[in-house]
Amino acid sequence: MRELQKPIQFVRGVGPNLAKRFSAKGIDTIENALNFYPLRYEDRRNIKKIANLNPGAKHVVMGEVLVSGESGYRKKAFEAIIGDGTGMLTAKWFHYKTIYMQKIFKKGRKVVFYGEVKFFGGKRMLIHPEVEIIDSGNEGEPDSLNFNRIVPIYSAIDGVYPKVLRRIMERIAQEYLDFIPEPFSEERLKRFNLIYLREAFRKIHFPDDSDDVDKLNRYESPAHRRLVFDELFFLEVGLAYKKKLYEKEKGIMIIPDDSINEKFRNMLPFRLTSAQERVVMEIKADLSRSYPMHRLLQGDVGSGKTVVAFVAALTCIGGGFQVALMAPTEILAEQHFLRYRNWLNTLDIRSALLTGDVPKSEKTKLLEEIEDGSIKMVIGTHALIQESVRFKNLGLCIVDEQHRFGVMQRSLLQKKGGQPHVLVMTATPIPRTLSMTLYGDLDLSVIDEMPPGRKPVLTRVVNGKDRLSVYNRIREAMNKGEQAYIVYPLIEESEKLELRAAKQMFQEFREKIFPDIKIGLLHGRMKSQEKEDVMSKFRDGSIHVLVSTTVIEVGIDIPNATLMVVEHAERFGLSQLHQLRGRVKRSDSPAECILVAYRRPTEDAYRRLKIMKETDDGFRIAEEDLKIRGPGDLIGTRQWGMPDFRVANLMRDAKILSDARNEAFSAIESDPELTKPENQILKTILSLYWKNNLELARVG
Ligand code: ADP
Ligand code: MG
Repeated sequence: MRELQKPIQFVRGVGPNLAKRFSAKGIDTIENALNFYPLRYEDRRNIKKIANLNPGAKHVVMGEVLVSGESGYRKKAFEAIIGDGTGMLTAKWFHYKTIYMQKIFKKGRKVVFYGEVKFFGGKRMLIHPEVEIIDSGNEGEPDSLNFNRIVPIYSAIDGVYPKVLRRIMERIAQEYLDFIPEPFSEERLKRFNLIYLREAFRKIHFPDDSDDVDKLNRYESPAHRRLVFDELFFLEVGLAYKKKLYEKEKGIMIIPDDSINEKFRNMLPFRLTSAQERVVMEIKADLSRSYPMHRLLQGDVGSGKTVVAFVAALTCIGGGFQVALMAPTEILAEQHFLRYRNWLNTLDIRSALLTGDVPKSEKTKLLEEIEDGSIKMVIGTHALIQESVRFKNLGLCIVDEQHRFGVMQRSLLQKKGGQPHVLVMTATPIPRTLSMTLYGDLDLSVIDEMPPGRKPVLTRVVNGKDRLSVYNRIREAMNKGEQAYIVYPLIEESEKLELRAAKQMFQEFREKIFPDIKIGLLHGRMKSQEKEDVMSKFRDGSIHVLVSTTVIEVGIDIPNATLMVVEHAERFGLSQLHQLRGRVKRSDSPAECILVAYRRPTEDAYRRLKIMKETDDGFRIAEEDLKIRGPGDLIGTRQWGMPDFRVANLMRDAKILSDARNEAFSAIESDPELTKPENQILKTILSLYWKNNLELARVG
């Protein structure tokens, strides 16, 4: 395998210059190059004659440039007309660099176009086709690598012609494929109907004539399937391996003292739902084990995770240990603190709030009391993971809205104690396929039931032109004694974006629209004290309408607020909209969410708004979100902290994922240390794989 780690310059024909260009694309080694898979494939076994082109279909055409140049007056375009003896075809570009185009499309040059053929006024046209220039030197005689076969099309590498790239890939395939080891047994290959790894690498770059072009282009060819399987399998083996390691850690055994819990339950104005009770049981069982809990608590917005976390905290405190709870924003930390303090005071348990701006004098004292153990429960923001915070005996770390934190922050908090139990909570529902990978090393608890009486929030999409009707609706809520949020995408108006913003609208509401209503303003750039003031006024009902940015997106819980207006809803992502709507789904009074859209939404924005209208189910929304973002959208998965996959796509490859996962977990189950001879190769690949996914390796 060391051969594969060699620098790309070892390949014949790759000099320092070319190597640099490869490197700019992230390709430094032979292995990197092998993992640089084609974006798509062209069937050049079948080059169409221009006379035989059908409109509407995608075709590969080859011909000679007859004439080219810029056309059009105000809206310029570049046109090139080619002929192949049977007819003429016009290719047209609206975005292009003139100099570059003129250089390429010299009269007499042979070119290959790929694209969808359209007929305009009797003319055959290709708009923005893919182009490949055939060297003027070689008389345009198709060669065996670039023609008469299924040809791999790679993402462009600056300064490297596709032909050259293909030539180099071919050399690599010829000279290095033999060094690729086969990590799987014949039995496993057969069971999952997988081809050899070596074979997969060969075919993904240079498919055989017998391969199915459509399958290749859907990334569902046998070669793709094999590489997807491997990618997911090694991820899952790593997670399974880590999970096993947890079980060897020495944890803190907590013997539940039910009398505190009993008291707490008598204080609560409601009874836990059966889903909440089930999760409480799962957590208690974990806490009483000899190794630390690593559990993810998932539950849709408003499903009541806070109380469950509180029961876990009490169990721990009752057993004589401290608890830390970390929230992603000051506002949310404060809210948790207020809620918990009410409960804790009644139970005679000391707690503290620790955020970035606790005054120094106070902070020193707090830190002392945390260190000597007199404060049992600390609630805070990431200030909690600062070095100066030391605990006497930290038994449990709770991380709320986990998706808002980096992986590193979670593990830092955990390092504050010996081996504390860890409970992470998230309200952003993650599609099952994602949570299986991202949180594959954690045990999962799901609250899949809403507190009784919750009705779906009526959701409407309103055009910005009809804002007045929205204002009337706000008045209506006020008349009923209820409260409302109005959310804006920006704090302040900006010249670049023509959007309404919180500050300006706050002024306008106060002075012109609702002079008689008590309005508050909240955004991330206010001082903590100001934020706290506004929140507490909104909480106690002395502010009726809260004009805000997305600082209130997660966690905020004010049951009397029943109306959520989101301005410029077209600008928000689905999970954001779902979270925002969740702010008014906190009691059994009917609630409404009005999504105000300005301008004509883009197609994606339109789909998002439509889904919001259609469903209230966070898990469905998450799935739809992933679909809209599309498989290629890395930001989408990064938001959840996913690594970038080379070829796997969790939506498309859900079935392979579940096979790979089962197989990985059972492999680790039967050989936890990977000591068996047949697993040595797994172990080697694993360490390479995880070295490249360091970030992920730290999860948990
Ligand atoms: P989330 O899961 O979004 O964090 P919270 O824990 O903030 O939700 O709970 C949402 C609201 O539901 C809170 O006002 C809480 O007091 C209330 N709640 C939680 N559990 C129940 C229950 N079993 N019955 C009635 N209300 C509940
Ligand atoms: Mg919450």
